[in-house]
Amino acid sequence: MDIGIKAIGGYEEVGKNMTAVRAGNQAVIFDMGLNLDRVQIHEETQVEKMHSLDLIDIGAIPDDTVMNEFDGEITAIVCSHGHLDHVGAISKLAHRYDAPIIATPFTAEIIKKEIRSEQKFEVNNNVQTLEAGQKYLLSSDIELEFIRTQHSIPDCVLPVLHTPDGSILYGLDFKLDNSPVLGEETDLERLKELGKEKNVIAAIMDSTRVGEEGNTPSEKIARELVRETLHEAENEDVGVFVTTFSSHIARIKSLTEAAKEMGRRPILLGRSMERYTGTAEQMGIVELPDNTGIFGHPRSREEILKKVKKEGKENYLLIVTGHQGEPGATLTRMANKTLPIEIEKGDQVVFSANVIPNPLTRANRYSLETKLKMQGARLFKNVHVSGHGARQDHYDLIKMIQPQNIIPAHGDLDLNSDYADLAKSMGYSFGKDVHILRNGQELLIED
Ligand SMILES: [Zn+2]
Repeated sequence: MDIGIKAIGGYEEVGKNMTAVRAGNQAVIFDMGLNLDRVQIHEETQVEKMHSLDLIDIGAIPDDTVMNEFDGEITAIVCSHGHLDHVGAISKLAHRYDAPIIATPFTAEIIKKEIRSEQKFEVNNNVQTLEAGQKYLLSSDIELEFIRTQHSIPDCVLPVLHTPDGSILYGLDFKLDNSPVLGEETDLERLKELGKEKNVIAAIMDSTRVGEEGNTPSEKIARELVRETLHEAENEDVGVFVTTFSSHIARIKSLTEAAKEMGRRPILLGRSMERYTGTAEQMGIVELPDNTGIFGHPRSREEILKKVKKEGKENYLLIVTGHQGEPGATLTRMANKTLPIEIEKGDQVVFSANVIPNPLTRANRYSLETKLKMQGARLFKNVHVSGHGARQDHYDLIKMIQPQNIIPAHGDLDLNSDYADLAKSMGYSFGKDVHILRNGQELLIED
């Protein structure tokens, strides 16, 4: 049977990932993601209330109208992990397909919350769970497998579609981490087994950090960076604020543990902190120190900040949203002096995140950092290790699975070309077995 790989979103940008893979006349959609900076650029955008066609127009979600000329029947929508650039368009697009959504338990929980907060469309697709390491028969001859991987959110997998003619691996997003802070390491044994069978027809790969030489260090290194930054600064009698990705539960675990070691009570502030960390705690995915407080609702956030101010900032470690300077996030609001706590001279502000390299976030971060500095804060930036594999991690993965064809994704033309370069250095040829697609294009692999 012939194989078709349809690029729908995420092939010309970092964001709004969506790919359809067809084997004969049956197909699966991998991911339905959001392009966050296209949403933030329009102030006051309320995504929950918007129509999908308007969101497609502003480039916020994948343009899946290209599916009108796609032949396969969609048997499942499969999500690799719970980041919004992979699941954030489910509530806008999934109802157009008569197919269940399949994801790991944590990802499924995030998807259900997304669907519940949707106000424009009714999404009735069944949300099914499949655990890492398990397989699921989609039809008499097509099977889905979830291979466990590490990234920067819990319960991530590399989905593999097994067809009678071979397998297709969906390689977004992953890192090879042999000593993770949370969860188990990437299942290298299984990946090597796939390679030995010499049966991987195609691999769709994450080009985001392929331009970075070397490999991405373990999350264990980020834990050490965090500890060093917090323990070695002269900060006993001042406020300490840390901002990080609210879905990065491993990092939040390290931060709360560092707070405990410092004799401070960890407090998580912001709606998205509550959404992700609350869900992970309820599901038993993470255990945080007993005295950790999570305050998502604006009113409860106000109250706890009044308490912190009264009892003294030096007794707390405040973990907050706003690492990209997003308007409305907790750190941004603190810097704007609209919350009942002040940043004062000598307070420590730690960015446990990188700056997402686009003009909008650079501008937002510049504005936030300037305000914080004017208030006398000491800034500690990039106390962070990425969740995406770098160039040599990709070399290793390609060597392990030995795909017959490589399709770079999760990046713009430059990043995808960087991936093609790496593949070329490993013996692949551009246009023959490395294929750069644009959104809307379909690659046909004949048997
Ligand atoms: Zn991700």
